[in-house]
Amino acid sequence: MIHRLPEEKIQISAEQAQAQSEALFNSIGDGAITTDEFGKITRINPVGLKILGYAEKDLIGEWFPKKIIALNERDESINLIDRPITRAFLTGQPVSEKMHYRKKNGDILPVSISISPILFGGKPIGAIEVFRDITIEEEIDRMKSEFISLASHQLRTPLSAIKTYSHMLVDGYMGETTTAQKKSLRTIIAATNRMNELISTLLNITRIESGTIAVSPKNIHLYRACDEVIKELNLAANEKSISLTLKKKGAATTTVKTDNLIIKEVITNLVSNAIKYTSEDGHIEVSVQGKTNDVVFSVRDNGWGIPKESHSQVFTKFFRAQNTVKRETTGTGLGLYLVQGLLERLGGKIWFESEEGVGTIFYVSLPRNSPTLRSIK
Ligand code: ADP
Repeated sequence: MIHRLPEEKIQISAEQAQAQSEALFNSIGDGAITTDEFGKITRINPVGLKILGYAEKDLIGEWFPKKIIALNERDESINLIDRPITRAFLTGQPVSEKMHYRKKNGDILPVSISISPILFGGKPIGAIEVFRDITIEEEIDRMKSEFISLASHQLRTPLSAIKTYSHMLVDGYMGETTTAQKKSLRTIIAATNRMNELISTLLNITRIESGTIAVSPKNIHLYRACDEVIKELNLAANEKSISLTLKKKGAATTTVKTDNLIIKEVITNLVSNAIKYTSEDGHIEVSVQGKTNDVVFSVRDNGWGIPKESHSQVFTKFFRAQNTVKRETTGTGLGLYLVQGLLERLGGKIWFESEEGVGTIFYVSLPRNSPTLRSIK
C-alpha cells in the first residue's frame, strides 16, 4: 500500500529544507555567492557582503561578472572568457584561483576563490562561489620571502670567508698541514659548498615566489647544456660507480631560445637527484630530442624510485618521499619545487614516471621559441 503525505506536510518539509539551506548558506565562514544559469546573482551571504562592502540589494539580480570586478596581479581587468565563472560554466568543472576583487568603495583586495557549477541532469543550472580575503596571508608570505632573502644574503659573506681560509689552509699557504688536518679541511669545504647551494636554492625560491627572477633568453643547444652539466657531475657519479651517459635521439636540432643559467639549474637538479637516489653501480641516462615545436630531455635512472602514493606530492615544497628519507638524510625537498617554478617561467613543462625499486624518469619539454617566456617585473 502506498502512503501519501498530506499536501501541507510536503509543503512544510519543502519550506524546512529551504530554511535549512538558507541557514547553512548564511553560516558559511567565507564569502559565498550563488548565481543562476545566466550568471545573475541569486544569493550572497553576510560574510561575502562584508568582504566586498556591498548591501544585498546592490547585488541580487545583477550579472556576476559585471558587478564583481576581478583583476589580475597587475590590477588589470580579467577578460570575461578568462573569468573562473565562465570557465566553470564552459567546462562543468570547479575552478580555484587567486585574484583581486574590487570592493564597492574601489579598494582592491586579494582573494582566493573556488567556484563550482551546479549541475542538474548534466547541465549547469547555476554556480556557487566561495571566496576569502587573503590580504594577511599575502602579507605574511611577502614578509617570509623578504626574511629568507635577507638571511640568505647575510649568510653568504661569512661562508665565503670560511671557504677562502679553508682553501688557503689546505693549499699550504699558512704552513704545512697533516693528512688528517687536510681531510678535516676538505670536509669543511664540502659543507660550505652544500650550504652555498642551499642558500642559492632559497634565494631562487624567494625570487620565483616574488616574481623577481630575471630571465634572459638566448639561443642555446640543449644537448650541449646537458653535456656541460654531466661533466660537472661526473665526479659525484664516479664516487658511487654510477654510469652517467648522454644520448641524442633523432636528427632534429636541439636549439632552444631560453635562459642558459636557469635551464642548467634545472638539469643539475634532476641529474643530482638521480645520482643521490640511485644505489652504487647504477645507470643514469640523459637523452635529448628535438621535436617540431619543442625540445624534450629526460633523465632516467634505475634507482630507488618514488612510491606510487607519493607521486602527487613530488613537486610540493619540502616534500621528501619516505623511501628516500630513510636512506639519504641530506636533502630539503625544495629542489623539484624550484625546478617546476623555474620551468614555468621558461614556458616549459615537467613530468615523470617512477616505480619503487625499479627507477625513475623525469621529462622536461621546452618550447623552441618560448612564446610564454615572461620577463619578470
Ligand atoms: P631533495 O632531493 O632535496 O629531497 P627534491 O625536491 O629534489 O628534494 O626531491 C623531492 C623528493 O622526490 C626527494 O626527497 C625524493 O624522495 C624524490 N625524488 C626526486 N628525484 C628522485 C629520483 N630520481 N629517484 C627517486 N626519488 C626521487
